[in-house]
Amino acid sequence: CSFAHFGFDEHLLDAIRKSEYSKPTPIQAQGVPIALSGRDIIGIAKTGSGKTAAFLWPLLVHIMAQKEIEVGDGPIGLILAPTRELSQQIYHECKKFGKVYNIKTVCAYGGGSMWEQQKACQEGAEIIVATPGRLIDLVKKKATNLRRVTFLVYDEADRMFDMGFEPQVRSIADHVRPDRQTLLFSATFRRKVEKLARDILADPIRVVQ
Ligand code: AMP
Repeated sequence: CSFAHFGFDEHLLDAIRKSEYSKPTPIQAQGVPIALSGRDIIGIAKTGSGKTAAFLWPLLVHIMAQKEIEVGDGPIGLILAPTRELSQQIYHECKKFGKVYNIKTVCAYGGGSMWEQQKACQEGAEIIVATPGRLIDLVKKKATNLRRVTFLVYDEADRMFDMGFEPQVRSIADHVRPDRQTLLFSATFRRKVEKLARDILADPIRVVQ
């Protein structure tokens, strides 16, 4: 499998080539075509597998396929991660590839400045990467809203459970329109994750690293 098989345009392919990735990782080779087809995914993959790009590249294609993108509205892509560290890593990858299309990303995590994150959300972004609790706080303060979210990603779902984020994770899924595309990644596939996947994904395809 090569990157050319994904059908990305030259701009995105160029950015991937400039990253000096030689070929798609297994999770990318399997996951990207499924995500591009619009299906929900359960991805069993660890950090280091290239899972971020596996959901990010299809998200960028999804955003670019929207007819009209209004500045200042809520995000189209919402990526939830358990920790500040992971959300920042994802954010950097979003910035790196998002800039190809001028797609803006905001990163919001617990412990960071609420005021700064509120301001960044209000300025508008097509993608928000957030920890669950902080995202809910920002929605409550009306700094952002979930009305436009049609692509929802849960990264390291098992760690979100370990950190006690289950109520927030479920509440967010309940507040995103049901015709969304949902991708859930987890290093392990324990019963709790399996139950969550059954509740928030629609007819998902399982992809294993
Ligand atoms: P992740 O599993 O998403 O945390 O990615 C781990 C690291 O692999 C990141 O530093 C990525 O930049 C890098 N990476 C992503 N895709 C590829 C690829 N196809 N080939 C080589 N490295 C990659």
